[in-house]
Amino acid sequence: MALITDNLDPSAVELPGSLLIGGDRIDRSSGGTHAHIYPGTGRPNGTVQLAGAEEIDLAVESSRNAQREWISFTADRRRDLLIDLADAVHEHLAEFSRLNVQDYAVPISLAINTLLLERFLRHFAGYVDKPHGLSTPAAGSFDLNLIEREPYGVVGVIAPWNGAMVVAASCVAPALAAGNAVVFKPSPSAPFAALRFGELCTEVGLPPGLVNVVPAGPEGGEALVRHSGIGKIHFTGGGRTARKILATAAENLVPVVAELGGKSANIVFEDADLDAAVQLSAYQGPIVQSGQSCACASRVLVHESVYDAFLERFVATVESARVGDPFDPTVIFGPVVSAPDADRILGVIDRAVSTGAGELLTGGKRMGGELADGYFIEPTVFADVDNRSDLARAETFGPVVSVMRFTDEAEAIRIANDSSYGLNAFIQTTNLARAHRVSRLLQAGSVWINQVSDISPQGPYGGYKHSGFGRTGGLEGLYEFLQVKNIRIGMG
Ligand code: NAD
Repeated sequence: MALITDNLDPSAVELPGSLLIGGDRIDRSSGGTHAHIYPGTGRPNGTVQLAGAEEIDLAVESSRNAQREWISFTADRRRDLLIDLADAVHEHLAEFSRLNVQDYAVPISLAINTLLLERFLRHFAGYVDKPHGLSTPAAGSFDLNLIEREPYGVVGVIAPWNGAMVVAASCVAPALAAGNAVVFKPSPSAPFAALRFGELCTEVGLPPGLVNVVPAGPEGGEALVRHSGIGKIHFTGGGRTARKILATAAENLVPVVAELGGKSANIVFEDADLDAAVQLSAYQGPIVQSGQSCACASRVLVHESVYDAFLERFVATVESARVGDPFDPTVIFGPVVSAPDADRILGVIDRAVSTGAGELLTGGKRMGGELADGYFIEPTVFADVDNRSDLARAETFGPVVSVMRFTDEAEAIRIANDSSYGLNAFIQTTNLARAHRVSRLLQAGSVWINQVSDISPQGPYGGYKHSGFGRTGGLEGLYEFLQVKNIRIGMG
């Protein structure tokens, strides 16, 4: 587990709360304001101004002008500016980590999202000066037939509260490398790191407005999707919001990429290294971001021959996770994002108990004592869960995992695939042939074998089924931000 402790500045960081348009903090908010609460203490953290349709208009117009300037630079200059941005992000890692903690109280030991941002920027900067096109014969002629890839112009990037920096990395970086400008809309619940990132873009010399950052609620978000100046929308969030965005996008005839939720299976075979499987399942299950990650392995499927041994160690490991102040670098487990979310998650747990969905082995309650004012919920493990129960089918987005037993490979695959989601799947095994065989049969966009969900710029990431469509990362992630043009030149 990575710890960011180097270069940590213990002084308080200023929390930016105004919209960032054209490189300036804009003091207006026709979308209203949001009173941000720090989930670690339940205390107010500051006021966030929200964009409405007026500010979205301003942001799109400003991005349109900046994109014209951006695309007028040589490829070398754009590449070098993105590398400068990666360097600047590196220099500000400590500041970004702290802002990320302020955003949603993710433990600073896990605030590796800022490292991702640097990695994605470096990776995609390398594509700016690589050829994106082809020239091919054209049937029946000697014409010059060119197939080129061009930017969309201005793209709208909509981020969830739990992943503004991941989305800055996996969407904003390739969008810029492809020659676009971005109107970046973080959630009002987690705007600080994103706003600071927008400022840094201008500080390193990107055209002001190339990355405008506009925290907004549903009203401002819809105005962005509806805007005639937007070439494409890249949305990361929940399925319910995705349906609304797709309906609005259909009216505007604007293409959408959707990165949505998950209910990922983690299959522990009898030949797994059991200690490693326990550690990985605990981290990737209820621990990481308190289970508030699309990538969480919230259904753990264990072979019957190792079921009891696994459960005993798994529960002990989950119970020993260090909980506390998210700014303490030794803490790995923090609060959930808000009071309503804490109530919602406790409701899921209560219903699972009252309907007999599984046996509650540990957790299930709000934490008290020094943590009582924050939104801390104990890491929670249910055993012998029925895969048909709501507990196993709906995304909980909290520190709750369901453990189930299986008898053979075919049954494990059947249970893993028996879900409306298909974002990730995890396999714990030391049998190479089994790892390949099973990974091909799992309906998921990513399969992680003896590995946590370690998103990298080289790996296309995205969902099957209700986990969405489109990819971030890899060449596939770059192509999401490029449209194809065919140019044909008669040769006489
Ligand atoms: P959400 O769907 O509530 O909100 C996502 C974003 O959409 C926010 O910025 C929100 O303000 C905005 N929004 C809300 N209504 C809108 C509308 N009508 N028009 C336009 N924008 C609108 O999701 P959330 O609670 O912020 O995040 C949690 C969800 O995100 C979970 O389901 C999680 O699995 C998913 N997620 C997926 C990935 C992935 O890569 N697949 C990554 C992180 C999170």
